[in-house]
Amino acid sequence: MTYQISATKLQAYHRCPYAYYLRYERKLTSTEFYGSAALGNALHQALAQCHRDWHYRYPVPDIQWIYRCWDTHTDGLSHTQIAEGREILERYYWRFIANEPALNQPLAVEGKIQGYLQVENLEFTLVGRYDRIDFLSDGLELIDYKSGREMKLPETSEIDIQIGLYYLALEQTYRQSLKYLSLLFLRTGEKVQFRAAQEHQEEVQEIIGDLAVRLRHDRGWEPKQGKQCHRCTFARYCPAVTANPTPVPQSNAKPQLQLALNLA
Ligand code: SF4
Repeated sequence: MTYQISATKLQAYHRCPYAYYLRYERKLTSTEFYGSAALGNALHQALAQCHRDWHYRYPVPDIQWIYRCWDTHTDGLSHTQIAEGREILERYYWRFIANEPALNQPLAVEGKIQGYLQVENLEFTLVGRYDRIDFLSDGLELIDYKSGREMKLPETSEIDIQIGLYYLALEQTYRQSLKYLSLLFLRTGEKVQFRAAQEHQEEVQEIIGDLAVRLRHDRGWEPKQGKQCHRCTFARYCPAVTANPTPVPQSNAKPQLQLALNLA
């Protein structure tokens, strides 16, 4: 069995090893709130259909194609959400499809990426999801649709980790380099591109190497204070921000060994 790592996990580790340890090794539950994702899911599905099922022998779909894709995915949404989604997709169509000479067929839509890495004799499986992967003349562009109301860009360090992890995994899967990670904000029609480079991959390998040492010895999970502390759900267990921290619950005291040690 290998140790599974995703961009989300690696970003959490980079923010604070102690919070990572409590959440992923001691399995303490977090009380983070996740809002309704129904509209976002429906938009993702409609866009996947739009780019996956279009008959690419014809250059550009008309707006009716977008409406058809949307109508297929509106089950369970309220009338307001259906109208909102339709408006969002119309904006997408006029911004990203209507004026193109031809719609480019993507390499893949709505899928999972998987890669492998061996560090410190530990095997890691790199996992991730993507909304769309496009071919460019010199590599790949990974597109991530954002349907939230707020156009909030992630911290540079978090984006760098995400790029590095996808860079590694895509190179193994497609033998192609990632050139851009692009965030496409559906509500505003803005697309923000981040250039990917070999250095991102190297940085991620370094962070995974650092994590591997802690996993192997099961120590060194020190708190790392930062902006994230004010919303950290583990603050009551944390000696860095709480004078008398609550002991970590005993039921979760035994870390689960999730590693396959390759000692060959
Ligand atoms: S409060 Fe800050 S330092 Fe403490 S565990 Fe949470 S993120 Fe880490």
